Amino acid sequence: MRVAGRITAEAIYLGGEAVKDGVSTKHIDDIIRHHIEKCGAVPSFLGYGGFPGSACISINDEVIHGIPSKNRIIKDGDIVSIDVGARYRGYHGDSCCTFGCGNVSDKAKRLMETAEKAFYLGAAKAVAGNRLGDIGSAIQEYVEAQGYGVVRQYVGHGVGRELHEDPEVPNFGHAGHGVRLYKNMTIAIEPMITEGTYDVRVASDGWLVTTADGKLSSHYEHTVLVTDGEPELLTKL
Ligand code: MG
Ligand code: MG
Repeated sequence: MRVAGRITAEAIYLGGEAVKDGVSTKHIDDIIRHHIEKCGAVPSFLGYGGFPGSACISINDEVIHGIPSKNRIIKDGDIVSIDVGARYRGYHGDSCCTFGCGNVSDKAKRLMETAEKAFYLGAAKAVAGNRLGDIGSAIQEYVEAQGYGVVRQYVGHGVGRELHEDPEVPNFGHAGHGVRLYKNMTIAIEPMITEGTYDVRVASDGWLVTTADGKLSSHYEHTVLVTDGEPELLTKL
């Protein structure tokens, strides 16, 4: 999983470097697929439930599951979430980061920073003996205190031999509640936060999830190895 995680992290890094005004989301997807395959791994998302891309690329009010397209052009000021999974020798890594394109507004920057910080506050609770609610409540309390929403309809998850495994890892909840964490568990912690309401809609393509009010959204994720002490982020370069 460390190798799968490293390949995933490299692919996101390369995708993020390619986020520029005038570039299509398909171009970024091609870069990601090429890197994963060059490493002898397989893009986890490609063909998953029929998904046609190697990455989910979601812009501005798009929360998750954006299908890469040569007709979807990134513009200056956009915020672009790149969600990638890679399977190597039967094990998956799963990670997401939201990148700004060019001159991003201060309010968009603050939203992106909040999603990332929320992830780290949640991940800090991913210690053997704690419970899932400790992670969710740490994320929810911080995000809501910043005046943002936490998406309820989509959550983090266990990850390992399958891309999505039990347990669900919500970005909300109550400290001291939920499944107990144990050493060597691998979970994807992935706050999806919104500028306005946390309600979301699924587009007519059956994949793309957008905010219901059209306001911005940001997403940040790593695959996390639970230990007795400091959690290990398997998808961080
Ligand atoms: Mg992901
Ligand atoms: Mg995930």
